Amino acid sequence: MEHMEQWTIDLRNSITNGDMIARDFETEAEGINAVCKTYPMRIPRYYYNLIREIGDPIWKQSVPSINELLDDDSPEYPLQEEEDSPVPRLTHRYPDRVLLLITDRCPMYCRFCTRKRMVGRTSVITEKTIAMGIDYIRSHTEIRDVLLSGGDPLMVNDRKLELIISSIRAISHVEIIRIGTRFPCVLPSRITDDLCNMLKKYHPIFVNTHFNHPSEITPQSKEACERLAGAGIPLGCQTVLMKGINDNPVILKELMHKLLMMRVRPYYLYQADLTRGTNHFRTRVESGLQVMQALRGYTTGFAVPQFVIDAPGGGGKIPLMPDYVIKFDEREIVLRNFEGKEFCYPQADQQYVKDTREIELINF
Ligand SMILES: *Cc1c(COP(=O)(O)O)cnc(C)c1O
Ligand code: SF4
Repeated sequence: MEHMEQWTIDLRNSITNGDMIARDFETEAEGINAVCKTYPMRIPRYYYNLIREIGDPIWKQSVPSINELLDDDSPEYPLQEEEDSPVPRLTHRYPDRVLLLITDRCPMYCRFCTRKRMVGRTSVITEKTIAMGIDYIRSHTEIRDVLLSGGDPLMVNDRKLELIISSIRAISHVEIIRIGTRFPCVLPSRITDDLCNMLKKYHPIFVNTHFNHPSEITPQSKEACERLAGAGIPLGCQTVLMKGINDNPVILKELMHKLLMMRVRPYYLYQADLTRGTNHFRTRVESGLQVMQALRGYTTGFAVPQFVIDAPGGGGKIPLMPDYVIKFDEREIVLRNFEGKEFCYPQADQQYVKDTREIELINF
């Protein structure tokens, strides 16, 4: 028998129905269990133990809410990843990089998830689709960046994961491999020395993790991130802006600072996608812009993530910023700084710009 790793035991002990939650928090299980029939629940005990009270940010992200069943407005599949999908479960939306889904399972089924309809239900990802994805990457020499996603790619055991990563690394035109995972946040015991020692054989590997609230940062999640960073893996964080959870500059600033303290560089702040069952988490776009305004200039430049909307209809991630440009013409640009003071930067002479371009053309 194969040795059971601690994280697989932890995963098996996750909470998957409402009865225990109802007992612990003196509430009713019916509503929770009703939602579970449509959208599965799984909460690792580690994450569950971070809940302080009903309705707190940890609870809202992990415990099903009846609101999920009341959302008739949003489409089931928001991002139309299928449209840019030349082979099943691979999305080739941008010229030089692809998204490859290698599992549809997650350590936790986040209530706000974009792939809510797909994760934890049917098995649409198989060894066959993964092999087809890798073949596609091999035969497209323009692909220099491969993003492993899911589900959560670290649901795949180390042995299988190494098979996938090593075959991608063997493709000479692939420069970097990225892994998107929520494990450091929801089940940090997954980040073992064995995993890190395996990953570091295939550098350059980048990991983007996913934290949404400062109360998710604990000694355990810090240890997991530091272990990955210690293996030479640059860490980023993707955060989703959510109503009643983190749509507040004070909370987000604290989160960004705590991320940096565990060597994670904030990467994206996402406007919530349109996904059926998640409408109750959506914020207005102004709220994200206010957050950005409150961060830029007031804290370390690299504590500031990029605020993006993943455009419905398959437009990809589009960045949004508070408007710092007051006036912009042939002669000058008038700017507003983070404190609202105005500054003017004169344009370079037209003739000079033209000459520089000619020089560049000769050089390249
Ligand atoms: C987000 C995403 C990527 C990666 O985008 P970056 O801006 O390079 O991080 C690639 N492909 C798809 C389909 C994506 O959604
Ligand atoms: S871990 Fe990621 S893919 Fe899985 S449910 Fe959470 S947000 Fe969705």
